[in-house]
Amino acid sequence: MTTQIESTQRASELRDLINKYNYLYYVIDNPEVTDSEYDRLFNELKQIEHKQPELLTADSPTQRVGGRALDKFNQITHAIPMLSLDNVFNTEDLNAFDQRVRDWLNTREVQVYAAEPKLDGLAISLRYEQGILVQAATRGDGAVGEDVTVNVRTIPTVPLKLIGDDIPDVVEVRGEIIMPKAGFDALNIKQVEEGKKPFVNPRNAAAGSLRQLDSKITANRPLAIYCYGLGELIGMDKPATHSAAMKMIEKWGCQISPELELLEGVDACLRYIEQLGERRDSLSYDIDGVVLKIDNIQLQQRLGFVSRAPRWAIAHKFPAQEEMTVVEDIEIQVGRTGALTPVARLKPVFVGGVTVSNATLHNQDEIDRKDVRVGDTVIVRRAGDVIPEVVQVVMSKRPEQTVNFKIPSICPICDSEVERVEGEAIARCSGGLYCPAQRKEAIKHFASRKAMDVDGLGDKLVEQLVDEGLINDPADLFQLTVEQLSSLERMGEKSAVNLVNALDASKHTRFSRFLFALGIREAGEATTRSLASHFLTLGALNVANEDALIEIEDVGPIVAHHIVTFFHQEHNQQVIDRLLAAGVDWPEEKKIAEDSLLSGKTVVLTGTLEQLSRSEAKEKLLALGAKVAGSVSAKTDYVVAGRDAGSKLTKAEKLGITVMSESDMLAWFN
Ligand code: NAD
Repeated sequence: MTTQIESTQRASELRDLINKYNYLYYVIDNPEVTDSEYDRLFNELKQIEHKQPELLTADSPTQRVGGRALDKFNQITHAIPMLSLDNVFNTEDLNAFDQRVRDWLNTREVQVYAAEPKLDGLAISLRYEQGILVQAATRGDGAVGEDVTVNVRTIPTVPLKLIGDDIPDVVEVRGEIIMPKAGFDALNIKQVEEGKKPFVNPRNAAAGSLRQLDSKITANRPLAIYCYGLGELIGMDKPATHSAAMKMIEKWGCQISPELELLEGVDACLRYIEQLGERRDSLSYDIDGVVLKIDNIQLQQRLGFVSRAPRWAIAHKFPAQEEMTVVEDIEIQVGRTGALTPVARLKPVFVGGVTVSNATLHNQDEIDRKDVRVGDTVIVRRAGDVIPEVVQVVMSKRPEQTVNFKIPSICPICDSEVERVEGEAIARCSGGLYCPAQRKEAIKHFASRKAMDVDGLGDKLVEQLVDEGLINDPADLFQLTVEQLSSLERMGEKSAVNLVNALDASKHTRFSRFLFALGIREAGEATTRSLASHFLTLGALNVANEDALIEIEDVGPIVAHHIVTFFHQEHNQQVIDRLLAAGVDWPEEKKIAEDSLLSGKTVVLTGTLEQLSRSEAKEKLLALGAKVAGSVSAKTDYVVAGRDAGSKLTKAEKLGITVMSESDMLAWFN
């Protein structure tokens, strides 16, 4: 049992909090808490005031529309107040609303409701005189709003002139200004790129974009309008129903919701709410519920309104897509490509229809931008199937003695150095060959066709071998026995023998392939070929520093850095030593003479070769210092045309490029 004193105190506390949140949300467009948290506090206050009416003060936020017109805009007094809506969150309360309506009307008849999505934007009143848009005002505190006419004129879906010949002398069309989801996402990408703070959600972005002193800014923001009501109307009788009024303004050129439906009774309303709820995420704009309005305008007038909301309408809110919770820890996950991702471990919270206990924090930049710390209360958003996201920290709830979070400089899985290349967002573990998190990918790459080319060792088999604990790194491959392999599921003795033979055969490779197989970050085929032909031996490459590396063609500062870091890791050296000990070798590399016939020349191979395979020919050409390209251009020096050569040959002839036969090429090799 709460005492009278406690209730009085709590009511006063709630009034202060709600007033503060109203200010942040409506006046400066910078909400600090979620709508769900706000709604809980608001409902708590309403409950207290309902139970103890003596605690209801005239200035209670439950009695007023929450906003306030900002001084920086001219103020406009609404001819007819712009009200808010009462909310319900469940069937029981919706039934109670419907019952109240019928009690007030003193009828048992089933009521006809006009149902529309509750758009999550901000309310606007558009005043047309003789069909011309003369004024646009925000809701403000319901009585006085802000003059945002110039800004509203920049919104493409707002008609500047109504069309048709049944236009009244004066009409106020009321609606919601929204920012569609796609426009919101694009705007936020731009905000971050420009080093500006992203908006927390589309409603906040719409409000912030509209309430600008410079209408050029508004004009560049993807805003739209849906109209849902009428204010003042002079020179014409009011239509008999809300739905007729909507059809009328639609004919004038105002965009209304395509989801508007007339429904008889609460059960039909509940079905509509459920169905729209299921489609919520696929709509192109955010909605936070359904608005139900008594369709008959005469009945609306009989019902009237109380303090801040009409009695003839109700908003049935959907479950929240944003909730608040606490970051209990921040952990680092190492992905299969070595990327380190910070993940917030959250106090479990029900949001967007599921219980969420983790949210990715993406990378260090993102953490810095949001300044997320262990212990923080944060707003978590989960809309649709999109992965949950930490939208922002609730700074006023930050405990004392929290610290900035920094991604560690050592991999939490394998202790290798963590690298973060300047200009890149992602930090990565450099222990590619060794790190358990990256094991499978490293081994798959090692065995792949362009690397060690182990015949019959596909991705699935690598996964199976790692999962069975038979291999941990590429060097373990060469220790596999026929007995071990044939004990695997779906592996016969013959396949096992074949694989062991293929592994044996793969040991005799080329230096460049071996380097490529090591999977040094960003060291692709061309780079590893250049490295091999420049350094000739592993020993020489091992001791090369970044300055020496960037001298080489195909090696920029980033890859030079990756190469040095790679060879610097003790673990990687151990794996290399074991590979060599297992018998991996390659023919000695020969320095390509600067004056080699093909040095620096670009060659294209086309048609079918008779004596060599494509890849053999390619390797031999590369060994002579040529570049092998896939398509013919003005930069091509020679085209080697085999049998049935087609369009590449034609193009070469057209460009006047020297065409050689396969035997000409063999003569080069000799
Ligand atoms: P509301 O948003 O619950 O409902 C009224 C508004 O709904 C109208 O003014 C209109 O703009 C809009 N609306 C959308 N579609 C409509 C339609 N089809 N027909 C009629 N109106 C439609 O009420 P409110 O007073 O604007 O705001 C209260 C709500 O705002 C709270 O429930 C909360 O969700 C949010 N809020 C949040 C914070 C915060 O700090 N997070 C602070 C204040 C308010």
